[in-house]
Amino acid sequence: MRHALRGAAITLEADPFLAGEAPSLRHETDALIIINEGHIEAFGSFESLRHTLIGSAGVPIPLRQCGQHELIAPGFIDSHVHYVQTPIIGAYGTQLIDWLERYAFVAEARCADEAYARNMARAFLGECLRNGTTSGAVYCSVHPQSVDAFFSEASALGMRMMAGKVLMDRNVPARVRDSAQRGHDESQALIDRWHGQGRLQYCITPRFAPTSSPEQMAMAGALWQANPGTYLQSHLAETLPELAWVRSLYPDRLDYLDVYDHYGQLGPRAIYGHGIHLSEREMARLHDTGTSIAHCPTSNEFLASGACRVRDLKRADRPIRTGLATDLGGGTSFSPFATMLAAYRAAQAVGYSLSPVHAWYLATRGAAEALRLEDRVGSIAPGMEADLVLLDLASTPLIARRLTECETLEDQLFAQIVLADDRAVRATWIAGVLHHERDERHQP
Ligand SMILES: [Zn+2]
Repeated sequence: MRHALRGAAITLEADPFLAGEAPSLRHETDALIIINEGHIEAFGSFESLRHTLIGSAGVPIPLRQCGQHELIAPGFIDSHVHYVQTPIIGAYGTQLIDWLERYAFVAEARCADEAYARNMARAFLGECLRNGTTSGAVYCSVHPQSVDAFFSEASALGMRMMAGKVLMDRNVPARVRDSAQRGHDESQALIDRWHGQGRLQYCITPRFAPTSSPEQMAMAGALWQANPGTYLQSHLAETLPELAWVRSLYPDRLDYLDVYDHYGQLGPRAIYGHGIHLSEREMARLHDTGTSIAHCPTSNEFLASGACRVRDLKRADRPIRTGLATDLGGGTSFSPFATMLAAYRAAQAVGYSLSPVHAWYLATRGAAEALRLEDRVGSIAPGMEADLVLLDLASTPLIARRLTECETLEDQLFAQIVLADDRAVRATWIAGVLHHERDERHQP
């Protein structure tokens, strides 16, 4: 059914790291967005499009008039997240390798039970909608049923999601271990079952080089090459002890990235989480191969992994496709605002200020570019899928007060990044269908 939204709207039309902020950010103070069959049919000023509000039978189409302190924006995209770790967000006190053993593998082992995994997927996706996140690249557990559970629930909501079962055949407890052959066969069966079904895409998911044998790494690369259009995701250069571990496991390779390169795992539609401790050679190689990085700042801060140098990743002479990501449960919040704020702090830690426009880009269009989905989601334009959020720019008394001091749109966006949470997400649409509307009763 055709319907329309009228209100202030923002979208990124280009990469501000390359094109500059002003040419990239589009701000319509009184926009009209026409939605039809899950897609955006038209987007422009209300004045220029008001004639389209009359349907073919001469009847006005349904219109939602947004409020004075509301802002329509593209849904946020999470380019790296572990739905199976939802129960352990905020688990206390360790760094990466210990954290994996003490918490992550224990939580993931429970997903052998499909009913449990389905329940977890439902809770995870509900939180995504409440926080305005409409798409993501998702890690399941080693169990194929955890993928079935996730894709079933995402499909029921009509969400654009990519996901895959993690491949790990060494250095992990038996309950979450597969073998090279079994991992390959289970992944292929999942690809056959799910890839390209509606808005779902399969992502071959070797967890990271230390937990896959050379045989499994080779099979994962071959599987990806044998299934055109599928994705591949893994972790890269998150902590220094991990780098040393990779060096000892793969002594013949030049560096960490070269391990993935050697096994045919770099290229368009490959996404690597973190990318903190990378050499110039590795960054150049990521660019040359069209491989993407998912920047996971709350997780990096929480596990004391280091600060990602996002400005270096986006350097104009060899830009790397980069998106923001929560990396839950190592990450600490579902909220894109908390994630953008952590990205700002990570940039501060390495000597520069990430602007609100750059942060917003990384959480929307930039993440879509990292996932090679920029022609479908991540911005507002005719032909794009209608994954949208309506933000309340005055969602708490403090933010409402702060708003009176803001002189520019950029000020307003930055205040949201610092102060807002899920209360700022008034509504979330998936393919034009309203799936979340904030409960007014919970307002301050
Ligand atoms: Zn991760």
